[in-house]
Amino acid sequence: MKQLRNYVDGRFVESDRRFDDVNPVDGSVVAEVHEADRATVDAAIAAGRRAVDGAWGAMRNTERAALLYRVAAEIERRFDDFLAAEVADTGKPISLARNVDVPRGAANFRVFADVLKTLPLEAFQTELDDGAQALNYTVRKPLGVVGVISPWNLPLLLLTWKVAPALACGNAVVCKPSEETPGTATLLAEVMDTVGVPAGAFNLVHGFGPGSAGEFITTNHGIDAITFTGESRTGSTIMRAAAEHVKPVSFELGGKNAAIIFADCDFERTLDGMMRALYLNSGQVCLCTERVFVERPLYERFVGALSARIATLRLGWPSDSATTMGPLISAEHRDKVLGYYALARDEGATIVAGGGVPEFGDARDNGFWVEPTVIAGLPDDARCITEEIFGPICHVAPFDTESEVIRRANSTPYGLAASIWTTSLNRAHRVSQAMKVGLAWVNTWFLRDLRTPFGGSGLSGIGREGGVHSMNFYSELTNVCIRIEQEERA
Ligand code: NAD
Repeated sequence: MKQLRNYVDGRFVESDRRFDDVNPVDGSVVAEVHEADRATVDAAIAAGRRAVDGAWGAMRNTERAALLYRVAAEIERRFDDFLAAEVADTGKPISLARNVDVPRGAANFRVFADVLKTLPLEAFQTELDDGAQALNYTVRKPLGVVGVISPWNLPLLLLTWKVAPALACGNAVVCKPSEETPGTATLLAEVMDTVGVPAGAFNLVHGFGPGSAGEFITTNHGIDAITFTGESRTGSTIMRAAAEHVKPVSFELGGKNAAIIFADCDFERTLDGMMRALYLNSGQVCLCTERVFVERPLYERFVGALSARIATLRLGWPSDSATTMGPLISAEHRDKVLGYYALARDEGATIVAGGGVPEFGDARDNGFWVEPTVIAGLPDDARCITEEIFGPICHVAPFDTESEVIRRANSTPYGLAASIWTTSLNRAHRVSQAMKVGLAWVNTWFLRDLRTPFGGSGLSGIGREGGVHSMNFYSELTNVCIRIEQEERA
């Protein structure tokens, strides 16, 4: 059986406690994972501190950027290994992992190496009342040792999104990937080892959240900051742990994202976009849409066309190039999503499409599959409309006016993303700016420029990452203020 080990202070470390890494397509075991105990996590954090105080901390920006480019190149050299590991852990179609997960994993290192090389210093010239001047400038220093805790839905993409800027800023990292998807994180440790990242700068510990490696990271005094992507409820627990020692946190949390479709939209493009926004990665992207509002004159046509398109989705083996949708990540998550399918019926929803579990008549019946689903007819305060489900399900509702739909779309404690579909230029600007979200897309979805701010408001997170915003979180800024006398002293 393949073994996935921890990586601490430049060495792969075993553990007596092991757990199974399960393939959600058919429930088969992919690998055995070595769960880090508290001593291993403490050792990783101590190694991180030595790295920041030693060779890693002494490295110049140009050298660090060069190392990050080598990490990107090595991920690309081992592209097929990363692809196989990501697909085995998540069950997602290989085409998706090939086009999104693995390339973005490499791109994150390149982009943040570029940002590091081009980042200017901030400076102000201050004129004083006595005629003298002050020159203020800002220098960046690493925060120290950063705890990186990541989820299972886009495992490599979301881990590297945090690791790359944290390393670019000269921090050491102690990473804990999701227990569901430990494969690509372990390959990343191998890459760090191969390209010669100094011992202790990158550490990897496997395990779960409470009572395991996740909690051991967040409760350790030696951690200088925590960056986390996952559920809002977990964010709240981690925030309490961080509060004890007043550590900075960056949180990318859940969403209950709305799409607003106006009657003047480009219908076919909107349908294409919505199929991605609803069912990409089986709806398991934090940015996925779960609430669809359609202007009344278009409502019946849109619902009919959406149902017809859903019937063309191919639920299949990841390696089959015709497959367009995979399973959910685990039995536990499948049960949660099916719980919402049942709740929708209890709440009085009309099931427009799906709503069940597909049957294959082969090993996939041991996997964690659900049907892509559309529901309708629920009031805005129904639980299926207010709670994040994180599966291939949406609720479709008609609306009559722009102000009404803005109010309804914004009436959620989450604030991650929204998409607006219209050909009216004025309406596009007006409505997108009125959305209480971190990201508002117009006539597109999940289109990312990695230099732009990414994050959410309300229950969707704290802070922004991306480009200079990441660099600001992962740096300690020091203002240097120098008084400059205007007259030469005799
Ligand atoms: P999760 O919160 O269950 O787990 C995320 C990570 O936190 C895992 O590594 C887990 O082991 C760890 N963890 C759990 N409890 C912990 C604790 N008490 N202390 C420390 N670590 C702990 O989330 P998930 O189910 O893996 O991911 C799905 C969620 O992530 C969804 O809510 C989704 O919206 C959200 N998400 C958000 C974004 C974003 O950018 N906003 C991106 C992807 C996913």
